[in-house]
Order: sequence, then C-alpha cells, then structure tokens
Amino acid sequence: MPAASADTVVTRFAPSPTGYLHVGGARTALFSWLLARHAGGAGKFLLRIEDTDLARSTEQATLQLLDDLRWLGLHWDNAADLVYQSRRKHVYDAIIESLVQRNLAYRAYETPEELDLLRKAAEREKRQFVYRRRDLSAEQVKQFEGEGRPHVVRFAMPVKEYRFHDEVLGKEIVLGPDEVQDFVIKKADGMPTYHFAVVVDDAEMRVTHILRGQEHTKNTFLHIALQEALGYPRPTYGHLPIIMNLDGSKMGKRDRDKKIRAATQLHLKNTRQSPSDVAAAASVAVSHFEEWLNNASKQLDLPEQSALMHVIGMTESDLPEILVHDFRRNGYFPDALLNFLALLGWSPGGDRERMTMTEMTELFSVAGIGKSNAKFDRAKLLAFNTQHGEATPAPQLVPAFRAYLEVNPDSPLQRASDDQLVKLLEMKKGFRLLREVDEASRFLFVADDQINYDPDAVEKVLRKNDRQGVTVLQELGDVLPNITDWRHETIEKIVQQYCDQKQLGLGKVAQPLRVAISGGTVSPPIFQSLDFLGRESTLARIDRCLGTAVY
Ligand code: GLU
Repeated sequence: MPAASADTVVTRFAPSPTGYLHVGGARTALFSWLLARHAGGAGKFLLRIEDTDLARSTEQATLQLLDDLRWLGLHWDNAADLVYQSRRKHVYDAIIESLVQRNLAYRAYETPEELDLLRKAAEREKRQFVYRRRDLSAEQVKQFEGEGRPHVVRFAMPVKEYRFHDEVLGKEIVLGPDEVQDFVIKKADGMPTYHFAVVVDDAEMRVTHILRGQEHTKNTFLHIALQEALGYPRPTYGHLPIIMNLDGSKMGKRDRDKKIRAATQLHLKNTRQSPSDVAAAASVAVSHFEEWLNNASKQLDLPEQSALMHVIGMTESDLPEILVHDFRRNGYFPDALLNFLALLGWSPGGDRERMTMTEMTELFSVAGIGKSNAKFDRAKLLAFNTQHGEATPAPQLVPAFRAYLEVNPDSPLQRASDDQLVKLLEMKKGFRLLREVDEASRFLFVADDQINYDPDAVEKVLRKNDRQGVTVLQELGDVLPNITDWRHETIEKIVQQYCDQKQLGLGKVAQPLRVAISGGTVSPPIFQSLDFLGRESTLARIDRCLGTAVY
C-alpha cells in the first residue's frame, strides 16, 4: 500500500458503538478533527464505526453517536461512504486467510478454561503469561476439527523488540521481546478483533495520524507488528492524557453511579426502607440492586438508573454530565463545550483560553498537547457556557436553543416561535444553561388554567402578613385592566405609581404578581414576563389565583 504524500494529514475517529459518546471520546474526535482541519486542503477527518463486537454494538448507539458528533459540529469527510466494520468481514477474512497461508497466523483451539489454567500456572510460577504458538500435530488438529471445537486465529507476532515514537509523550515507547505474544485476530464467532480490523482499515483509509486515548498506548505494538507483516505504512501515533475529576479520580461513566449510590444510601437511611423495598419500587432485581449498592465497580444500565432515581427523588440535573448527550440536554452550547474539551490536555500557549473553532483550528498542534493528566473542572465549563451566552446576540443562539429543545421534547417551549425564543433569551440574560431559560419560562407556554400554585409560595407571599399579597393582587386586578398599551415600560410605570400611592416597596408587589402568573417565586423579570404573557392571560391568572389558590 503506497504511503500518503508527506503533507497529507488524514485523521480518523473510530468509536465502538456500545454506548453513548462520552467526553473522552468527544475530545479524541475533536483533536483528530482539529489536526485535519489545521492542515486545510491537505487534511481529511474520517469516521469509522468499529462495530465488530456484535453482542455489544447497537444501531441505536451508532445513530446517537452520529447525532452527537453533528451537534458538536465535528463533520466528517466520508459522509457518503461511512465505514462500518461489521460490513467488511469478507475483507478481513481474505487478509487473515493470506496470513494463515504464509504461516504468519494460525488456528488455536484452547477453550477459555484452558487458557485460564495456563494463566494461573504462570501466576503460581511468578512469571508473566505470554501466549506463544504451540505446535499441534496433524492428528490433534483433525481431532479438534472433527469435534467441531471452536477456534480463534492468532497472529504469530515476531519475537523481537518493538518501538514507536509517541508524538504526545514525546518519546520512544518500547516493548521488550519477553512481552511479545501471539494475539487473537479472529474471534471464535468469526469476527476480526479490534486489533486486526483497526490496522486494515487505517491502512485502507490511508490514515496518517492517529490520536487516541492512553488506554491504547500498548495496543500500538500489536498494530505495528501487523503493519509490518502486511506491508502497510506506519501512521504517526499520539496517545492523549487521561481525563480526571477534580478529586483525582478517573473520570468515567461510573461517576453517575457513584452519585446515585450515595443518594440511595442516604434515602435508605432517612426513610428506613429496606433495599428490597427500593429495588422493588424501581423494578430492579433485589440481588442485582444489592450487588450494585455494595460494589463501587458495578453499574446500573440507563433505564435502571432512571427508575431508581425516580424512586429516590433524584433528577437528571443532580447527576454529573459525562455523556455528550447529557451536556446537550442540560443546555450547554456546543461551542463552549468544544472550547472546554480542547483545553483538556491541549493549550495554545500562554494563558489563552477562550477561542472560537476557527481560532482553535489555526492554533492547534500535537506539540501543544501536554503529557500530564487533564482536569475536568465543571465550574470552568459552566463559566465558559455563561460567557458564550452573554457574548452572543440572542438571535444567533436560537439554533442552539432549538437543538436543546429537540432533546427535551417535554418542554412546552416547543410551541415557541423563533422571535419568542429570542425574547426569552434576552429576558434571562446572564443565564448559565439553556435549561435555566427553559425552566424559568415554561409557565409562559402553558394554558392559564394549567398553572400549579406552589403551596409554600402561596403561604409566604400571599397569605402571610394578614394576606397582604392577596390585597395587592385584588387591587392590581382593578388597576391593570385599565392599561391599554400593554408594554413592559407602561406596565412598570403604572405598577410603580400604585406602589408609591400605597407606600409599598416594588418587591411587595412584584412577588404576589409572580406567584399569580407563574405559580412560584422565580421567573424572568416581572414586567417583561407580564408583557410577554399579554393582558388577557395576566388578568385571567390573577383571577384564577385569587379564586383557587388562596382561600
Ligand atoms: N474503537 C476503538 C475505541 O473506541 C478505537 C481505538 C482507536 O482509535 O484505535 O476505543
């Protein structure tokens, strides 16, 4: 296979669709994208779906992945012929067969139990277990085949020293001959392993630069050995630093379980319910639930998590976001998230932090990627998001707001027009997350008779102090209908006059109004809310509040 020309930069993102895209994957995709785009016309960013693990890969996860990458704006250049490994079995089969013909690969028949025994024996003798070819006689092979014994195909990895230069770590990584072993390239189910398919496809797609997580560093030796056997060029490799939580633990999907587990334990303690009660309420098998409760390495799947959270009164926003989908659902802007992800390991130099995608593309280099662990600082991400919302004119935020609403189908803001979304964004200027704009504005999009009055708010704002709030609402019910020019400036002027006349502070009037129109004590600025809601609805809600919520 000919090597690509020297100035070409072909990168790829090769996710396994076994779950949703998480921040680690998104960062790998982003760095690979930036490296390709930095090269301009000489760069390409390709996508490949590594779905050879038939039991764990799902079509749903693939679609979700594509959707998450599109939301981030990390578009790939092979949209027309996206590579799915599961559809390329015939290609891998032919190459594996050629390796077998050349005696560079062979069938191996050990059962998992036999392999386990070999591993244990090595452990007892305090030596590292390495699998090397065990010569089988023709009769043995005949017998195994006759029995229909399952087999794998192993690559006979030439025993020697392997080394490659890691562009991120800036040094040679070495594997000594003692650690070399024959690894599986074709599984018992007939599918190629990750190690095999990745090498064939990187070569066929003419990938020149591979950036991926540090968990793959040692895999690279296996890939190099296969490239040598197959006469493929060697791409440039760089392994990205690990992403850590601020408390020093490795960031991962388990962080969600950790939070839910702690809340469940507290719930059990406070309510004195037994684990089996809670498990039953959440429709999770008791034994599975107890195992999870007592073992920090266990995970519940997503539907189990939500059922349990419902039982213990936890909501999604109580959980740390790990998946790109979570960030989108909670109302982060893709630009803010990308800027933040870029800084997980990379720095353009100096203390420059806020950058647009164009600036990051211009400045990106593998040399700027650090060697030490990256820290996932949620407060910083939130600050980036807030700044992005503040610095961008509201009309330009509408597409992001629509993308947020797409994954929050229950929000009544689905009914909002673009102009209305602009108004909401302006009213809540300074918001941190789009979710805050959404939640604070929902009352503006429900029918007047669907407002739920929060009993605490009614008690505190309307009934306390001799029902002062009720009196205010009754009096405003006489004043407000006279306003014909229903704009926030006019409403404010009239309400202010009323306050002066009654010698009441604005707060004493605004809060009862807020409870009457929204049911609670938080809303966007009150006069703008009244303007937005309109005269009819405002009056109807005041009436209804006086009639049904207060007695
Ligand atoms: N499918 C592999 C993963 O998701 C790809 C690793 C690689 O980039 O080679 O980890």
